[in-house]
Amino acid sequence: MKVQVVIVGAGACGLVAALAARDAGAEVLVLERDASPTGSTALSSGFVPAAPTRFQRGNDSAERMAADIQKKNHGEADPAVVRAVCEESGPAIEWLADKHGVPFQLLEGFLYPGHSVLRMHCVPEKTGAGLMGWLLNASREIDLLCSARVTDVSSTAVRFERPNGQTEAVEYDALVLACSGFGGNPSMVKKYLPEIADALYFGHAGNQGDALRWGEAMGAAAAHLGAYQGHGSVAVPQNVLITWALMVEGGIQVNAEGRRFSNEHLGYSEQCLPVLRQPGGIAWCIYDERLHQLGMTFPDYRDAHAAGAVKASPDLPGLAKTLSEVDEYAKGKRSDPFGRDFKTRPTLQPPFYGIKVTGALFHTQGGLKVDAQARVLAKDGRALPNLFAGGGAACGLSGSQVWGYLSGNGLLSAVALGRIAGRAAVAVG
Ligand SMILES: Cc1cc2nc3c(=O)[nH]c(=O)nc-3n(C[C@H](O)[C@H](O)[C@H](O)COP(=O)(O)OP(=O)(O)OC[C@H]3O[C@@H](n4cnc5c(N)ncnc54)[C@H](O)[C@@H]3O)c2cc1C
Repeated sequence: MKVQVVIVGAGACGLVAALAARDAGAEVLVLERDASPTGSTALSSGFVPAAPTRFQRGNDSAERMAADIQKKNHGEADPAVVRAVCEESGPAIEWLADKHGVPFQLLEGFLYPGHSVLRMHCVPEKTGAGLMGWLLNASREIDLLCSARVTDVSSTAVRFERPNGQTEAVEYDALVLACSGFGGNPSMVKKYLPEIADALYFGHAGNQGDALRWGEAMGAAAAHLGAYQGHGSVAVPQNVLITWALMVEGGIQVNAEGRRFSNEHLGYSEQCLPVLRQPGGIAWCIYDERLHQLGMTFPDYRDAHAAGAVKASPDLPGLAKTLSEVDEYAKGKRSDPFGRDFKTRPTLQPPFYGIKVTGALFHTQGGLKVDAQARVLAKDGRALPNLFAGGGAACGLSGSQVWGYLSGNGLLSAVALGRIAGRAAVAVG
């Protein structure tokens, strides 16, 4: 069997690549290990940054978006790839909306740290599962073979295994690796990300590092393997993501002794480490009724609330000292020793709310080096002729460390680089 473009993985990256390749007239086959495609995409919040789009209001541009990304990663990401991805982002969202019926809208109500304007796009469900549903709906004309775990890759063919143990092979002109990173592979996490190796992994179990392994065996270069998206706010023991909007809009995190320990406005990704360093590896998100109402606009938060994770109290005597310090920072009487500016949001008012949370690993950001056309690069810098990668399979936009992750870098790479990869793959041969 031979197919022009073969794509490994049916998350956001694989499905978007498939749609782009098919729109460009190619014959496409997507191979997916699971019986039903979900990937980390379905576990995510499903928020995709893009600029400019007609869903946004006010001024935004690909340049401004690229500047935000590079500021967060201290200029460590490849500027050509960042520029290409940002330039693709707006057209990709509008193309998915207009041509493929994915009902994107702007996520409003709060600005993620490091975003200079509102540019997160979501589907009405405001979940990654919702986004996957719409992408699968758009892909119904695409040949998608599930329960097909790719086991071997060469420069002309892939071999995949079916649930009964039988293997089959398919040849290709171009191959797109869209099978994400290695967050679900404990030995690789231990090797490349020892600082988070003992934490909860909150991504998809199928992220086993296959793309990295195959690519390296074919002579590809890899980069920034120490980079990842962490999160400092997963409710325990319920294991539900608690939106960082609570912190952005005025909430604080305290440890079990009732003390703040960090600037909560630096970013949720790097916040995983300070949280894990607290007694018991936990913290409490503390906020008020106004923020509780904001939280209730997010499906994850509603799930956490229904599961009993959200505690309410008319007062918090144990936090009196911490709350009065925060009040002084807000009134400008003292500066926050962690450097947060408390003057921009209303101070917390009783009744108070609290959720016990821990830090977690969400997905890896290092991966195969690609150029601005999503072509996988060899160690000597030349592009491999027919190998492409996007999403978690490719080196991301976050530089070398956890602090370089700007909200949305994950799905941005999946959607924008996925579209670039799918289109470029058609031009091979
Ligand atoms: C809780 C959580 C919340 C998040 N929220 C956001 C967010 O709001 N915005 C954002 O930008 N990012 C977010 N992310 C990150 C985002 O989910 C990922 O960056 C993105 O989904 C990666 O997409 P992908 O298509 O590369 O990988 P995936 O969606 O993981 O898809 C990869 C697919 O490849 C398949 N596969 C793997 N190996 C093989 C194989 N050998 N053969 C065949 N198939 C294979 C897998 O089964 C899977 O279906 C979040 C992540 C988590 C965990």
